[in-house]
Amino acid sequence: MKFKNYLEEVKKFTNEILIPNETLLEDEGNVSKDIIQEIIDIGLFGISIPEQYGGAGYNMEEQILLTYEFTRASAVYRSRFSTTIGLCSQALLDFGTEEQKEKYLPGMAKGEIVGSFALTEPNAGSDALSLETEAIKNDNGYTINGTKRYITNAPYANVFLVMAKTDSLAKGSKGISSFLVDSKLDGIKIGETPKMLGQKGSVSPEVFFKDCNVGMDSLLGGKEGGGLGPALRGINHARLHVAGTCVGQAKRLISEAIKFANNRKQFNQSISEMPAIQNLIADSYSEMLAAEALTLKAAKEFDKGHIPETEISSAKYFSSEMVSKVADRALQIMGGAGYMEDNPITRFYRDTRLFRLYEGTSQIQQRNIARKLIKNEDQR
Ligand SMILES: Cc1cc2nc3c(=O)[nH]c(=O)nc-3n(C[C@H](O)[C@H](O)[C@H](O)COP(=O)(O)OP(=O)(O)OC[C@H]3O[C@@H](n4cnc5c(N)ncnc54)[C@H](O)[C@@H]3O)c2cc1C
Repeated sequence: MKFKNYLEEVKKFTNEILIPNETLLEDEGNVSKDIIQEIIDIGLFGISIPEQYGGAGYNMEEQILLTYEFTRASAVYRSRFSTTIGLCSQALLDFGTEEQKEKYLPGMAKGEIVGSFALTEPNAGSDALSLETEAIKNDNGYTINGTKRYITNAPYANVFLVMAKTDSLAKGSKGISSFLVDSKLDGIKIGETPKMLGQKGSVSPEVFFKDCNVGMDSLLGGKEGGGLGPALRGINHARLHVAGTCVGQAKRLISEAIKFANNRKQFNQSISEMPAIQNLIADSYSEMLAAEALTLKAAKEFDKGHIPETEISSAKYFSSEMVSKVADRALQIMGGAGYMEDNPITRFYRDTRLFRLYEGTSQIQQRNIARKLIKNEDQR
């Protein structure tokens, strides 16, 4: 199918299936089996996976245009397939052996294999290099011990991409390796699902590895000491998708706010006729357009064949800060109704707060951007 037609199909799917079923996500605490099947059927698990491995093979610009559409609906839907299409499959694509790619990617593209990305730990958040999980070599492979925290989709995962120390004496990231760990293996326990401020229906519990034995074939790329390279490959892909998600969420917030403002009358006029309300709408729309353009620019750079880390960090930083402001203004437009739970704006207000925290906090994006610019002083 031509990309343009697929984009239209995803737009229709968002309007007719995803948005109307949104409230069930919080009530039921998950994305229902039926909706997951529809997400699989329409091919969203395969958008980032090359055709050679059974995916649709869309480039980053196309993936971002699709993200702008399907994230007009609750971000909980996206969360359910994001760890597979971004964090895990992209690290595999660039760093996996051919056998590993053949083993996992076709199943991921079909939504049959769910990937979950296990980097963060109780003592290693922004400072991922300080991770403590260990993978000790034995005669048949490795034994993994450690605790991972906030692991999205862990209860649904078929495979975890686990970052662990294989050499505790090595300096920097050289002592870290990545493993593809089958979720059914002995020695893996999933913790309680923590209650979250927003994105209710998405799950990010702890995962405990206790004497979990994995074979040699679990080592990503078959090489020890790959450092955080594979993790960052997945994270950079995910960061750009998060930027696109913030744009999609802002589009929805703006349209809901306008709908409300047109219908609410005070002082014998619709509040949308009041300049103070119009200013809120205009500020939100302008900032959303800026984020949309910035994210597409980063995507186009990505498609030239390198990872534009500074542009990606800028897009993620700006877009996530932007959507928080847009959500706050949308809620303000609703007055007291914005503080009540039965509307999408209040839900999106809570949901969008996450985007400034994961895939690197805003402070970490600022740090990345400034450090890169300072290092490459001559090239600015
Ligand atoms: C809902 C959810 C889902 C997640 N899903 C996953 C997942 O699937 N897999 C996974 O591995 N991880 C996941 N994470 C983890 C997420 O990426 C981390 O929470 C994030 O990187 C921040 O780490 P932290 O929470 O430990 O905060 P910390 O690193 O402890 O940061 C605390 C504060 O200090 C600031 N800070 C830290 N270092 C610096 C610095 N050098 N300069 C300036 N400020 C700094 C931060 O910006 C923040 O404000 C998820 C998190 C959440 C909340």
